[in-house]
Amino acid sequence: MTDSNSGWIKSTCAYCGVGCGIEARPTSLGKLEVRGDKEHPSNYGKLCTKGVALGDTVTPLGRLTQPMHIQNQLHIQNQQQQALGWNEATQLVSDRFNQTIEEFGPDSVAFYVSGQLLTEDYYVANKLMKGFIGSGNIDSNSRLCMASSVVGHKRAFGSDTVPICYEDLEDTDLVVITGSNLAWCHPVLFQRLRAAKQSNPNLTVVVIDPRYTDTCEIADQHLAIESGSDVALFNGLLSYLANNDALDEEYISKHTQGFEQAIESAKKYVYHSDSNINFEQGVSQLTGLTEQEVERFYRAFASNKKVITIYSQGVNQSSQGCDKVNAIINCHLATGKIGKVGMGPFSVTGQPNAMGGREVGGLANTLAAHFEFGDADSHQTVSDFWQTDNLATKPGLKAVDLFDGMLDGKIKAVWIMATNPVVSLPDSAKVKAALEQCPFVVVSDCIADTETTRLADVVLPAQGWSEKSGTVTNSERRISRQRRILPSPGEANPDWWMIKEVAQKMGHQHAFDYRHEGQIFEEYCQMTSLDNANGKLRDLCLIGLTNLDDKGYSELKPQQWPVLKLQQDIVNQRMFTNGEFFTASGKAQFVAVEHSQPLTTTSPDYPLIMNSGRVRDQWHTMSRTGLASSLGEHTPEPFLAIHPETAKKFGFATSTNQTNQVVKVKSAQGESQARLVLTQEMRKEQVFMPIHWNGTTAKNSKPCDLILPNTDSNSGQPEFKHTPVMIEPCDYRSEAVLISDSVVDCDEFDYWVRQKVEGGFLYRISSSKNPMELVIQLANTLDALPEPNAEAIKSLHYHGNKSFKNYGSAKLGQSGVKQAFVVNSKLDHQSIDWLVECLTREADEEFEAEFLSTMAK
Ligand code: SF4
Repeated sequence: MTDSNSGWIKSTCAYCGVGCGIEARPTSLGKLEVRGDKEHPSNYGKLCTKGVALGDTVTPLGRLTQPMHIQNQLHIQNQQQQALGWNEATQLVSDRFNQTIEEFGPDSVAFYVSGQLLTEDYYVANKLMKGFIGSGNIDSNSRLCMASSVVGHKRAFGSDTVPICYEDLEDTDLVVITGSNLAWCHPVLFQRLRAAKQSNPNLTVVVIDPRYTDTCEIADQHLAIESGSDVALFNGLLSYLANNDALDEEYISKHTQGFEQAIESAKKYVYHSDSNINFEQGVSQLTGLTEQEVERFYRAFASNKKVITIYSQGVNQSSQGCDKVNAIINCHLATGKIGKVGMGPFSVTGQPNAMGGREVGGLANTLAAHFEFGDADSHQTVSDFWQTDNLATKPGLKAVDLFDGMLDGKIKAVWIMATNPVVSLPDSAKVKAALEQCPFVVVSDCIADTETTRLADVVLPAQGWSEKSGTVTNSERRISRQRRILPSPGEANPDWWMIKEVAQKMGHQHAFDYRHEGQIFEEYCQMTSLDNANGKLRDLCLIGLTNLDDKGYSELKPQQWPVLKLQQDIVNQRMFTNGEFFTASGKAQFVAVEHSQPLTTTSPDYPLIMNSGRVRDQWHTMSRTGLASSLGEHTPEPFLAIHPETAKKFGFATSTNQTNQVVKVKSAQGESQARLVLTQEMRKEQVFMPIHWNGTTAKNSKPCDLILPNTDSNSGQPEFKHTPVMIEPCDYRSEAVLISDSVVDCDEFDYWVRQKVEGGFLYRISSSKNPMELVIQLANTLDALPEPNAEAIKSLHYHGNKSFKNYGSAKLGQSGVKQAFVVNSKLDHQSIDWLVECLTREADEEFEAEFLSTMAK
């Protein structure tokens, strides 16, 4: 939707599940201006740092622009890359998929897709795999972020339905945030909650998290719970509610089933030491909290009428993720705190379109559009709708199993769309080996060089955010348009288009005869309107969107499902308001759950528990946010956060000057390295490492190299939050800071991390060589760089003293500083800032004098 006067185009942010509305317009200088959309009901004009910097990430730098066939992909030296036209590329993919299916059957092929895809892309991919190839082997990286919530919802409600809307945060009494650093991971939602608290001082916020995070800034109570003990805490709460006359008996009897079994389990979790039953299950012992802390939280939940429990990856990414979700939902059902204004369990999703993927059925264990496997009527309905006689009859392989399937030879062709599993799945070494083993790997992405594209046989250039067009759904079930704002570079095309090209070449011309994304959206909406007979609508019903014409789709305003009638104005609606659920009985189901330890725990070899998660200004594997210099400043380097006492216990100096060292982190799975950061915010037995850095932005700094492929047996979601590790010093002997106007291959160095800065890149390097050897290595590295414009290069050197205590060198071209480095520098932040500024300065005599005098300081 374009404002014809000003050129602003409405769209949605590329990142998290808050799904903020933005407005963007290209400028005459070839940039993209971005601002919050004041009319969008999810953010009313607000954006976080990532959203504000969206315009800085729109660059042709590093884009994949041409389909390529890469032969001999495992032998870099002998690799042959052949550029292909789209017709050839999609023919090659369809031929190889067809040959594989013919020889080994439909379950020998797979798609691994992403919450970055738009709903239209997802729908077409799901339709091809489940409807026409006839296999359930399509899974998504959303498996890594909310699969446990999907299972928890389905077990309790009979459907994957988020009950509440954002507006509820503004009319509630108590918000419990568990397993979520909302302030960093869903910042605009956090700002909304902060504003609600400011205008209503009676609003209480409780944060449950082993770490003290920025989210705790607005907390009235922080419960630094022991990793993996959420079921014990919420079972104890259910027990407390029953013992303190805080149940809603009428709601339980009218609208739920299974309470007796659930309370039978829960009452084993004793929250008070006066109690004389089974003290083995004492909540205090299991959670590491004091009885007073626990009871204060329980009292707050019981005494406040309106309660929202927000939860995210800290709950989901666990080998007991589904049980944690149901332990939370049980407490809401038992008190009737659901389906009304200002109350309910609230799973916030990580990715921009994780919800859209769930809706169309883009997970291996769901069929399509909230129709499920294992139901003959649903199978018939979907078969008839798609006019296929080859619909998959059983769930496919979930993410971790799917890559295991490649490793053991079951999966022989895979198409990976818009995701980088070598970096994001646990046990990266195994994922890499699986892709090396798989005979045919297709990767469609907008970025050319990722750890996954490096293993592809065919790469297909996809459109990126601001180029593609379609819809996404956010955490409050609100569907919004992403609109095309800029042209795509090179040959990049929409994901749905390349899937339909392959599908048609595989022989399914008619079923994939799409000309534009609006047509796909309409078909999807029609599918959601099936089987809504007998006066009972299914939860995901978009019947009100089935008659959109091109203009209607183009101008579509945000719609919150269910959509029975096109929403012209902002709608905020809750689910389960009438106490009816989508189970066979129409009643919500309590699920009896028990606390159990995570699948692996500490040992003398691995005595610490590593938690992993996001930092404020980066997103996933940094392929987009890593392009914005403003976003690199907040956390420039991968780090390992540790309590000072723990650091001391493991032999690390704890005075600020000496702790800033790179350390080795080891698990039973692998090794990684990061800079040690001391903080009181950690529990003493835990460390924390961010997930973003990988082989293209740092050396050996991936937590996924360490994380074991343990999963929840119900959801298949990996346990990212609980990895036993050991830390050791790296004992590097020298350090350097390098700036460059172009990317430098630093893989020869023992440790490096790259940060995008204005005018180029900043590298922090550590080495086991002595300073003099490092100087020589750096000089050789820079000498080997190509000089594309055959510029006259002038070199400056500063040699502090004979022991190379401070060695500086710069290469100056006509256009300015090309590279500069300082070895063993004592450069503080200000001096590093000065060095970075060199990249945007003229390399004149004044600069030369300043460089040498700064080195001499
Ligand atoms: Fe984008 Fe999420 Fe930030 Fe909103 S809160 S601007 S959706 S990253």
